[in-house]
Amino acid sequence: MSLSTPEDGRLSPGLYIVATPIGNLSDLSPRAANILSRADAIAVEDSRVTARLLQHIGTKRPMIPYHDHNADRVRPGLIARMASEAIALVSDAGTPLISDPGFKLVRDARAAGHAVVTLPGPCAAIAALTLAGLPTDRFLFLGFLPAKAKARADAIAEVAAIRATLILYESGPRLAATLAALGDGLGNREAAVAREISKRFEECVTGTLSELAARYEDTPPKGEIVIVVAPPGEAPPVTETDADAMLREALTRLPAAKAANEVAKATGLQKRDLYARALEMKG
Ligand code: SAM
Repeated sequence: MSLSTPEDGRLSPGLYIVATPIGNLSDLSPRAANILSRADAIAVEDSRVTARLLQHIGTKRPMIPYHDHNADRVRPGLIARMASEAIALVSDAGTPLISDPGFKLVRDARAAGHAVVTLPGPCAAIAALTLAGLPTDRFLFLGFLPAKAKARADAIAEVAAIRATLILYESGPRLAATLAALGDGLGNREAAVAREISKRFEECVTGTLSELAARYEDTPPKGEIVIVVAPPGEAPPVTETDADAMLREALTRLPAAKAANEVAKATGLQKRDLYARALEMKG
């Protein structure tokens, strides 16, 4: 949806979700700068951070802190103001709502019948995905994993079978432990560590999870980090020994033809060959 600008040059009332740079201030879009400089108020995570951005575009606007610790208290007032004012929402960096506050504000703004407009822009998860050189056709964003080892391992186990590239946010001090936990839970997949994207020391290091865990173990990197992990590989081909074991087990329950049929379905092997093997086993 795009909102028309009334005659007086003021923005139409509603909620404007504004993506901001994740490092390089030049990545702020002209449209985002325009909306920020004309909003009646801006809901911000940290007013010092947003003040720097506003200074960069040569404007000053009223800022209302909106973060995890005050959101429930502040939200009703913001929703009420959207009836007659243009309220912008920004986070410290990147796209609001993505591992950042905002989804309840959008939900409640919609419920109240206010216009909701998004101004798309930088997002560390997507930027890292473009750097990693891993499949992009299906991906799953996991945000930050839990800090405690057991909860982290459980969260990893939950996604181990998903055939998609995984994207995670992480901090430098926890990077090596998280890479090792990912290797334990997912197998030693290809991965990338994208760091300080769009900043002076941007880098993207690729390797297997165990290589990357070893690399960062003794020297935790500085700055902001995204981990990207390849999808699981193709299942290894079924060996003759595996197929025999499956057939032997199936023969304890089923006649030869049905056992061969079941194992053919499970393995993709030829039913005719499996039937012959089943008869051999029985004989
Ligand atoms: N909403 C933001 C977005 O759209 O990317 C993400 C906010 S989340 C609280 C902050 C995390 O994003 C950081 O801890 C880091 O994992 C990642 N991040 C943000 N900026 C980054 C950058 N320039 N390079 C790499 N990762 C970044």
